[in-house]
Amino acid sequence: MNIKADFPSLVEEIDYGTPQSKAQKQVTLNVDGRSITVPEGTSIMRAAMEGGVEIPKLCATDMLDSFGSCRVCLVEIEGRGGTPASCTTPVGEGMIVRTQTERLDAIRRGVMELYVSDHPTGWNEQAGTGASEFDAVAKSIGLTENRYGIEGRNHVKPEGGVAPGHGSLAVDYIARDESNPYFTYDASQCIVCSRCVRACEEVQGTFALTIEGRGFESRVSAGMHEAFIDSECVSCGACVQACPTDALREKTVLAKGLPERSAVTTCAYCGVGCSFKAEVKGDEVVRMMPYKEGKANHGHSCVKGRFAYGYATHKDRILSPMIREKVTDPWREVSWEEAIAHTAKEFRRIQYQYGRTAIGGITSSRCTNEETYLVQKMVRQGFRNNNVDTCARVCHSPTGYGLGQTYGTSAGTQDFDSVDFTDVAVIIGANPASAHPVFASRLKKRLRQGAKLIVLDPRRTEMVKSAHIEADYHLPLKPGTNVAVLTALAHVIVTEGLFDEAFIRERCDWTEFQDWASFVALPENSPETVGKLSGVDPELIRGAARLYATGGNGAIYYGLGVTEHSQGSTTVMAIANLAMATGNIGRPGVGVNPLRGQNNVQGSCDMGSFPHELPGYRHISGEAVRDIYETLWGVKLDDEPGLRIPNMLDAAVDGSFKGIYIQGEDILQSDPDTKHVAAGLAAMECVVVHDLFLNETANYAHVFLPGSTFLEKDGTFTNAERRINMVRKVLEPKARYADWEATQELARAIGLDWNYKHPSEIMDEIAMTTPSFAGVSFELLDRVGSVQWPCNEKAPLGTPIMHIDGFVRGKGKFIRTEYVATDERTGPRFPLLLTTGRILSQYNVGAQTRRTDNSMWHSEDRLEIHPHDAENRGLRDGDWVRLTSRSGETTLRALITDRVSPGVVYTTFHHPDTQANVITTDFSDWATNCPEYKVTAVQVGASNGPSEWQRDYDEQAKQSRRIASLQAAE
Ligand code: SF4
Repeated sequence: MNIKADFPSLVEEIDYGTPQSKAQKQVTLNVDGRSITVPEGTSIMRAAMEGGVEIPKLCATDMLDSFGSCRVCLVEIEGRGGTPASCTTPVGEGMIVRTQTERLDAIRRGVMELYVSDHPTGWNEQAGTGASEFDAVAKSIGLTENRYGIEGRNHVKPEGGVAPGHGSLAVDYIARDESNPYFTYDASQCIVCSRCVRACEEVQGTFALTIEGRGFESRVSAGMHEAFIDSECVSCGACVQACPTDALREKTVLAKGLPERSAVTTCAYCGVGCSFKAEVKGDEVVRMMPYKEGKANHGHSCVKGRFAYGYATHKDRILSPMIREKVTDPWREVSWEEAIAHTAKEFRRIQYQYGRTAIGGITSSRCTNEETYLVQKMVRQGFRNNNVDTCARVCHSPTGYGLGQTYGTSAGTQDFDSVDFTDVAVIIGANPASAHPVFASRLKKRLRQGAKLIVLDPRRTEMVKSAHIEADYHLPLKPGTNVAVLTALAHVIVTEGLFDEAFIRERCDWTEFQDWASFVALPENSPETVGKLSGVDPELIRGAARLYATGGNGAIYYGLGVTEHSQGSTTVMAIANLAMATGNIGRPGVGVNPLRGQNNVQGSCDMGSFPHELPGYRHISGEAVRDIYETLWGVKLDDEPGLRIPNMLDAAVDGSFKGIYIQGEDILQSDPDTKHVAAGLAAMECVVVHDLFLNETANYAHVFLPGSTFLEKDGTFTNAERRINMVRKVLEPKARYADWEATQELARAIGLDWNYKHPSEIMDEIAMTTPSFAGVSFELLDRVGSVQWPCNEKAPLGTPIMHIDGFVRGKGKFIRTEYVATDERTGPRFPLLLTTGRILSQYNVGAQTRRTDNSMWHSEDRLEIHPHDAENRGLRDGDWVRLTSRSGETTLRALITDRVSPGVVYTTFHHPDTQANVITTDFSDWATNCPEYKVTAVQVGASNGPSEWQRDYDEQAKQSRRIASLQAAE
């Protein structure tokens, strides 16, 4: 459907046409007898397409800029000589274009014959897969013969046979490049159209591919004659998608054949929320195809969403429920009925014995909105308390608090498309190139178009400098000094009069601004003072502040390097202050944009997963809100906030909290202070883990309920833009139940009268009870693709950009952000500061990605250490080192690099045998308890091998693997 045509009155005020396009003249031309009107500057090919006329093409695709090299898309233009390429020729008023003439047919056939001579199999349906774009073009122009043979010089020599080609040229054949685990490159099928090279540059922004050689010798090359796997290639798949022949092809498609059916769904990895067509043959996914209509990704992807779905069929998946009396007992496989009945009985026993608040639940940011909603509902309606929390606690809870306080909404202000209008991007505590790669590609494209970049990060990430981009300012601040540096930026903006007075007077509370301005102007907030404590050159602070305030549309993107601090909420408020002070809110190109980590962090927060909030961020103490749910659910709700995860664990250690239902979350690995988490879990009498794999937390579980992957269920995820995207079932649940069904079974077993037949009914309940979701339904999402909340009567198609005419809370609120140094201090025993992050190929604690071929890129966590610090400790690259903090120790190998500053060390946390959280402290954000993962005082020294717990872990891991393989064998 065409939304603009069908619902003209509902189209948002936001116009995503380029600013220029608004003023662009319209041009009318005639293509094959059809009158078509398009904006001036449109290519003839695009105009023809919009008018329903298909022009054959090979080097052009709608993902890429026009190139004009294949000579297939030629047209005739009345009054002009020659046959120009339609992809590079702009329309003209009154132009008469013909796309099908005898002359054009003859030229196209001749050109295609030449291509075919260099492409021995692709055009032949019998020989090739018969599905490539190349085949289709050959067929569409009626190619039936090839006068030139198939003797191109790129052909692969057939095994044991005579190489095609002639004479001495036969030695020049190229072997297939099979080095990448996910796709193959077969040069014999390459027609050197450059689409892959351009996709790598224009879409992905990596510049890993090139055309080397000339004439007949020209061919695609990864890096400098390297295999794909050894090159800069990041395996995003853009080249494979762009290839019109079978030269670049998914190995799964080659091995298993073409898909038989597909459904559009949403990636289950990061908060970008890319849309994919999950393509299936039989009961197997054979390809995840980035979906061009996906509004978050527009047809692009990263290696995780595109290729790393093999975990769904990994032998480690547990497919039968299991129970055991004690965690030292072996697991016993049982039926779903027995597992559910046992769990319900245990929870009831615990509540009877220890009280109503002795049990609770944890929702998952990996699960759908509907599943998350059900878990919090079961806790509130069934357990009759508010002991529900979510893994978002440990990542973005300060975002909810900070933006809620300043703007009135606990979410980012923009959509990803907004970045196309950004003039100055500021990245704080985030590395989108690793953690949000599809957004990073988009941002890099904007930077290549001339936008400026400021990066605040202790580490020199890929965003600071990589292929064709370099930050204008990199502020390498000491971990833990975010608030001081952001307030110093504000100091410059205020004291140099760079703030937007008109915006502030109209949109914010002026008195509060004055108070804040007098605070930031204090000498202790000057770049000079802050430079001393943060290690950042004051001139860099001044330059960055001036650029952000005066460089045009300024957009701030931030990640866990902002939130996972003892002052995480303060930092979010400092960011919000900066955006308000400079008027960078409420239009395309600006805003405050938290880059959410997991696929449904936003959704799990929206769905009422916190112990003090019902869905839609409404406080549990609000009588009117409670009334909505009490009426619908037929129970009296507890009006006191429940326990957060750390409080549940504390209470367990104290003996008052005895049972927990954990859906899709591995708190032993993801939460801080592992020893304390283990102690809490060990003190409980009924730990229920509902997951795909026997994760680390399951070591302390009494019940294991097998989970379902995103491929096995219907529902929705909400991404970092507040975009609600459909998740569609393409396979039946391998373990019988989708997660929402398993929760429903448990809820029924504890006496709740639930009877949802489909997740759409759960969404209907969410919409009925949550104002910001009032207009959301599966029917709407099926119809329009996705919407960004708020989606209600006022905004029936959602809200791409928030706070356009005013802040949700009324006047924007400036809040003083006093810098308070973390209690985690360096000293003689622990002189270095550890900070953590992710890499592209792995995901969080690696439960999924480690069970795919992505492991080949990152088989272990390494400790990055500056050469100066390494030398002081006598360490060499690759040495085993002991990393010690006040909380614990772990060992891993050293990676000596100046990406980190002296005094700072860095590691990823993707591997359970490293478990960086063994050494993180239990300090947390003052407002939300979000753990301070990003600052830990540590010492690093030489080591002979794994520490004691790592050896124990190894034993446990072996045991888990034994269980999984026994089950697989059965
Ligand atoms: Fe999935 Fe994120 Fe990669 Fe998109 S960027 S494919 S959502 S992991």
